[in-house]
Amino acid sequence: MSIDTIRHERSEQPYAYRRAELVEPDWRRFPGWAGVTEDEWRTAQWQRSHCVKNVRQLRELLGDLVDDRFYADLERDQAERATMSMLVPPQMMNTMMPAAVPAGPGSLTEAFYADPVRHYMIPVFSDRRTDWPSHPYATRDSLHEQDMWVAEGLTHRYPTKVLAELLPTCPQYCGHCTRMDLVGNSTPVIDKHKFLIKPVDRLEAMMSYLRTTPAVRDVVVSGGDVANMPWPRLEAFLDSLLEIENIRDIRLATKALVGLPQHWLGDEVRAGMARVAGVARARGVSLAIHTHANHANSITPLVAEASAAMLEAGVRDVRNQGVLLNGVNADPHELLDLSFRLLDGAQIMPYYFYMCDMIPFSEHWRVSVADAQRLQHHIMGYLPGFATPRIVCDVPFVGKRWVHQVSSYDTERGISYWTKNYRTSIESTDPDALSRTYEYYDPIHTLPEAGRAWWEQHGGR
Ligand code: SF4
Repeated sequence: MSIDTIRHERSEQPYAYRRAELVEPDWRRFPGWAGVTEDEWRTAQWQRSHCVKNVRQLRELLGDLVDDRFYADLERDQAERATMSMLVPPQMMNTMMPAAVPAGPGSLTEAFYADPVRHYMIPVFSDRRTDWPSHPYATRDSLHEQDMWVAEGLTHRYPTKVLAELLPTCPQYCGHCTRMDLVGNSTPVIDKHKFLIKPVDRLEAMMSYLRTTPAVRDVVVSGGDVANMPWPRLEAFLDSLLEIENIRDIRLATKALVGLPQHWLGDEVRAGMARVAGVARARGVSLAIHTHANHANSITPLVAEASAAMLEAGVRDVRNQGVLLNGVNADPHELLDLSFRLLDGAQIMPYYFYMCDMIPFSEHWRVSVADAQRLQHHIMGYLPGFATPRIVCDVPFVGKRWVHQVSSYDTERGISYWTKNYRTSIESTDPDALSRTYEYYDPIHTLPEAGRAWWEQHGGR
């Protein structure tokens, strides 16, 4: 080996940064959209009315480019495993197999199976684990948000901030949705809970709590996805929030900025957002958008355009909260590619990656705390510090903790122990809340043999 080769190998970085140009894949490569014009594509209404909602519509779109085996796999998943119904806007569908060149029957089958966005938006039965498809401690409302409702849909978990779930629907449904208990239509596996109070009364009850609770300064306005709320109603809610003196931070949660950017590019929404942002700025309130992208392929020129439109309208920041998912992004290169694509291409701040929560049938997506710590280590030092995403574990009854904050960790059984420094709304009289440890569980298939054997004995199967 020559000296030059040695120097080159020593100087190679584990991750090689290259600025990537954003590309909108050509939707006409899919037979069902061969005749769709650019004007149609850019219209939110066209996107909403051409979502893929079932196996039949997926077949109409892809035809025989994908084998019957895939459609049967999907049908079985929907009948036996899926916690979310299917709803994929064309914009999201178009980021799957972005470089695929159809070449006859079955030619896209393997690419579709392997695709990272497909992996979480259109899960199939063969993706899931058969040994432990669900962790024994998986629950429908894994973060116990409903236990902490102070008004229907208003979760008060942290001392100074609340989560307002305005509505239970989204323009797209993600297979791993942590709010699968409430969000979306019922599936054969999960009968969804319903809000019981009329929307207008529910929002008024939230507002009434916020007006009388000065300790709250920060409201995450969410759902579901706020893009599914008719704009005049969302604007009225935001105007009311802005009248409350103690509210200093408002964050609008919308995956649609990535999944249906056409919504945020609409004239009514842009003009409305400019009005709300103007009021926020005049009152010294920070208004931001939080979106949810899990893979670099999702960041296209239309997403960048929607982000730029919101910044131009006056929101202070657009931030990304992705979810760490096996088969999608649980790899340092994937996380860095996504983060750079967000930051360089779309002016979106990489902010968090959440570990996937312990909901039913999510074991194939979840990673262990140890793996999450390794991923955090590997992504440090490449992005600016302010744009280096934190990988966080949302620990039941605790809240978000950076993955290195674990207090102790039984790596054999995959049980991590966490502490906290505040009381949630259901612990105001609990003297032990701050000294207790709270548990989080790694996927059993990631454990050493002794740990897997322990769960066989104690896991309640
Ligand atoms: S956009 Fe968010 S709330 Fe809606 S399905 Fe996806 S993860 Fe759930």
